[in-house]
Parts: sequence; C-alpha cells; structure tokens
Amino acid sequence: LASKLPEVGTTIFTVMSSLAAQHGAVNLGQGFPDFECASHLVDAVCDAMKAGHNQYPPMTGVPALRQAVSDKIATHYGRRYDPADEITITAGATQAIITAVLAVVHPGDEVIVLEPCYDSYVPSIELAGGTVVRVPLTPGSFRPDFDRIAAALSPRTRAIIINSPHNPSATIWSRQDMLRLQDILAPTDVLVISDEVYEHMVFDGRDHESAARFDGLANRSFIVSSFGKTFHVTGWKVGYVAAPAALTAEFRKVHQFNVFTVNTPMQHGLASYMANPGPWQQLAGFYQRKRDLFREGLARTRLRMLPSDGTYFQCVDISAVSDLPEADFCQWLTREIGVAAIPLSAFYGDGFDQRVVRFCFAKQDQTLQEALTRLARL
Ligand code: PMP
Ligand code: GLN
Repeated sequence: LASKLPEVGTTIFTVMSSLAAQHGAVNLGQGFPDFECASHLVDAVCDAMKAGHNQYPPMTGVPALRQAVSDKIATHYGRRYDPADEITITAGATQAIITAVLAVVHPGDEVIVLEPCYDSYVPSIELAGGTVVRVPLTPGSFRPDFDRIAAALSPRTRAIIINSPHNPSATIWSRQDMLRLQDILAPTDVLVISDEVYEHMVFDGRDHESAARFDGLANRSFIVSSFGKTFHVTGWKVGYVAAPAALTAEFRKVHQFNVFTVNTPMQHGLASYMANPGPWQQLAGFYQRKRDLFREGLARTRLRMLPSDGTYFQCVDISAVSDLPEADFCQWLTREIGVAAIPLSAFYGDGFDQRVVRFCFAKQDQTLQEALTRLARL
C-alpha cells in the first residue's frame, strides 16, 4: 500500500509518554496537566448528562457554548463573532486545524508554516494535497523573520499557519509582529490559520495579540483555540474555530463529514462553567507561578534556560551537559535521569538539531520539585 504520509511515524508526544511510563520517569514531555480541573466543571458535565443532553447536538455546536465563546472573544479582543455563522465547536484544536486546511487548500496550493511548528500542521497540509513551504523562525530567538515570510509568498500561496503563544519555543508575537504580518498579507488573498490554543497563558503582564484584534487579519483568519489547555481538560478534546461567515461556511462543509458534531454533555458543561466570571482569567498567574518555581530550580542545574513568555513550556539548551543529539538526549534523560522531555528537532521537517529540549511545567509543584531534584544530578 502506498502510504499517504510516508514520512510520518507515531507522534513524539506518544513516544515520549510511553517511554516515561516504562521507566517510571517524571513526564515533563507531552503537554498536559497532572492535576485535576475544577470540580464544578466536572459537576456541570454530569448535570448535563443527567438532564438528558446525551444525543447529537447541533452540527455547529451547542448554542450556549458558541455564545459563550463569542462573548469571551468580544471581551478579550474586541471583536464580535456571530455564534450562528462564525463560530464552530470542534473536537479539539487538532480537528479544527485539519478541517480548516481541508476546507481551503486545493491540491498544489502552497501553505506556509513557520518552523519549529506543532506536528499536526504538515501532515494536515499533505493530506489536503497542498505543498508545504517551510520558513524558519530565527534560530536562537525564534522571532518571526518577516522578510523571509514575505519572500515565501507566491501566487500559489493559499494560507499561512501561525501560532502564538508558540509551541515549542514559548515565545509570543507582539502587536508589532501582528501588524507586520497584516501589512505583508494586505495585497494578497492569503488565508491565516491562527493557532491560539495557549491564548490565556501569557506572562509578565503581557497581553495575547489575537488575530481577532486586527481587522486585516481577522477578515482572513480561522482562529483556533482549545478548552483542553484553558480548563485543564486535554482529554475532553473540545475546541473551537472562529472565522468570518464565508470561511465558516466552507469549514462546516468539511466539519460535518469529518466529525459531524462534538460530544454534547461536555459542551453543555463548558457553557455553564463559562457563565462564571472568566475562570480563564487566573490562568496566566497560575502558570506564571509554576514557571517561576520551575525556573528557580533549573537555575541550579547546568541546563541553560531560554525565555518562557507564554504557553506551559520551558526550553533549555543542553550543550553544557551533553554531546548527544536532542532526540537521543531525551531518551537518555528519561531512562537514566528519570525525567522525560521533548526534543525540538521533532518540530522541524529536517530534524534540525540546535541542542534544545522542551519541558512542560503544567504539573503539580511536587512533580516539578521531583523533576528538579533529578535534573540537579546532571
Ligand atoms: N496546537 C498546538 C500548538 C498545541 O500545542 C496543541 C496541543 N498540544 C494543539 C494544537 C492541539 O490541541 P487539542 O488537544 O485541543 O487538539
Ligand atoms: N500539544 C501537546 C504537546 O505539544 C500534546 C499534544 C499531543 O499529545 N498530540 O505536548
């Protein structure tokens, strides 16, 4: 059988989590919390089930949840998306991204990705028959290089996928960055898929610059987010996409045959939870404290920390502690030191190795302390 994705194996997140489990390592690899979500969020889902919300919801998502998403975007970013025809509830951000790509990318269209990038982007484009155009973020700083982005545009460019706060580098795009992208795209009809799953995890008093804030971006963007990240429920796989009506209409044509709908009781539970005053508003402070605790401990190791301005990731340079390639180092660290991490090379098509690995600090303090005790042995 000729594979449609010949280059693709099992994702690094699954590989490292299995290895961590096998060796009893502290798993700071795959990004997910090791603590519970709010108990009243669970109660709200149970209540929804008991109230009989157990059959197919509307194809586009439960109306109360679409309304809650619309309100949240309006509050934070000052743009009102119509819940009826501009917001769709998805099975996590992963489905939102591949569905958006399948909806707009024709065979032979080019789609720009900025490397390092989340591992679902490239296979999604390939499954749509698109051509992946890889533009590196600036090595070292991971800043977008807008001259290179502009140079990568061609008459065949259909879309660009952006991601701020950024997995894996934990950098964020500034208002100037967004304005620069807006300027570059202004003379084109290139679409934007803006992966904003870490929107509520931005630190040190800074603000998330959603594409929704910029008219010239919002009018061409699929804005993707995920309740898994925001409410500590990665296993629920519920997210959403907000996009202008014309884009949403194309999105829904694919969505209805991709998943048709997303689980009903979770949607009702999330909608009633979001009626509380902004439970996501404490999230940045919550994770900033964890980041600081983790960084304090890392400062006592020989790993050299990179900045972490957003997300729940912390990258470190390993060159002072090992000569191994990143991927081998992560295997060794899991087996011998008992801490799992993710190599940044997994986020590059050519496996570019810059001696940097990623830790996830969405963990209980005691988990982080245990990992730090082990890392101090390096
Ligand atoms: N995009 C990025 C940048 C991510 O880090 C993740 C999750 N790890 C996703 C998308 C997928 O989110 P979900 O679990 O909601 O599918
Ligand atoms: N997004 C998470 C990460 O980057 C994990 C997602 C996954 O396991 N596919 O670690």
